[in-house]
Amino acid sequence: MTRNHEMLVITAILGCAVVGGCPGNDASDRAAKGTLTGQPTWHLGRPVIDSHAHVAPNLPSLARALEVFDKVGIGRFVVKSGGPVGSPRYQATMAMQKVLGDRMRVFVNLDWQGAGTPGWVDQEVRALEQARKDGAVGVKIFKNLGLQVRGTDGKLMTPDDPQLDPIFEACGRLGLIMAWHVADPVAFFKPVTPDNERYEELQVAKAWSFYGPEYPSFDTLMAAQEKRIARHPKTTFLLIHMGNNAEDLGYVDRLLSTYPNVYTDTSARIPEFGRHPAAQVRAFFIRNQDRILFGSDFIVDGTGSMQLGSVSHHEPDIDDAVEFFTRHWRYFETDATQIDHPTPIQGNWKVDAAHLPPDVLTKLYVTNAERLIWSIPLPGTRPPAQPAN
Ligand SMILES: [Zn+2]
Repeated sequence: MTRNHEMLVITAILGCAVVGGCPGNDASDRAAKGTLTGQPTWHLGRPVIDSHAHVAPNLPSLARALEVFDKVGIGRFVVKSGGPVGSPRYQATMAMQKVLGDRMRVFVNLDWQGAGTPGWVDQEVRALEQARKDGAVGVKIFKNLGLQVRGTDGKLMTPDDPQLDPIFEACGRLGLIMAWHVADPVAFFKPVTPDNERYEELQVAKAWSFYGPEYPSFDTLMAAQEKRIARHPKTTFLLIHMGNNAEDLGYVDRLLSTYPNVYTDTSARIPEFGRHPAAQVRAFFIRNQDRILFGSDFIVDGTGSMQLGSVSHHEPDIDDAVEFFTRHWRYFETDATQIDHPTPIQGNWKVDAAHLPPDVLTKLYVTNAERLIWSIPLPGTRPPAQPAN
């Protein structure tokens, strides 16, 4: 064997060990033939990026998150709750990012105190300028805009309130991604009665009911979301929770095809979009394969407690967290039918797995997040070269 040959063999072996899925590997053969029986196989491959997590910035919480991520094959992750710029949470989260380097990215949040008062919008725009300088890559707006935040007139601020335009424009100008949570599952806008399909969840999370005359309707919020997107073509929107409308993939499909500045993630919504026929979901993911990011909404709070896509009756442990992620892999990668979805409290039903093709999985799990989020340079660095997608 020549030296060149030797090098080729070593590279091939190392390649197999690192990326898995080399010829002869049973699991990848099965994956290629599409004869999966509930055993995810992509995960012999490269680490997944979780584009939507919440990890409180203290050592025990971070250690807990990393323990779970290591067990389930998540490499890089995005923290969507970096806090308002200048807050203790923000300082600690940015410090954590510096320690973890390439492994973590941060989205910051707005400070709604004083919303609508003179100077407030300018203050938030300056905060975002600072966040970008400090290395944040995006802003996350929680569902409180539209459901809780009130202006100086005492009325709920609508998601498309023109007063907020400078904030959304600033994101476009600064290259910060706007990750946006608008509304919540449709069932949360319906009466909390035993026939509500989210009754069990709403019994535990009472504050998640938005039924009543004091709240806008779900459809009103979706219309406001779209108006806002249309108004800021230079701002990149990451509409989390499956376009904030997992119940209606037609709506999400239409937004994605109408607005090139829109992306979405899967966070905490497999139980919902998994109810559509698997062939329909699969076609949706294939059609929009460059625009959907894997996200879990895995939370480790400041006390080290975890939340797995929603509230729960019992405190989840590490095994529960592993099961939560494994159910994601099973859903996306296999062709199993009538399986448990990741968050049972979200609904008493089963889902049929989406069985996405390997190249679509790679985009969902890794390269879309690399292209959208990891392409934004940190202070003092150049953007990484982008792999062909
Ligand atoms: Zn979240």
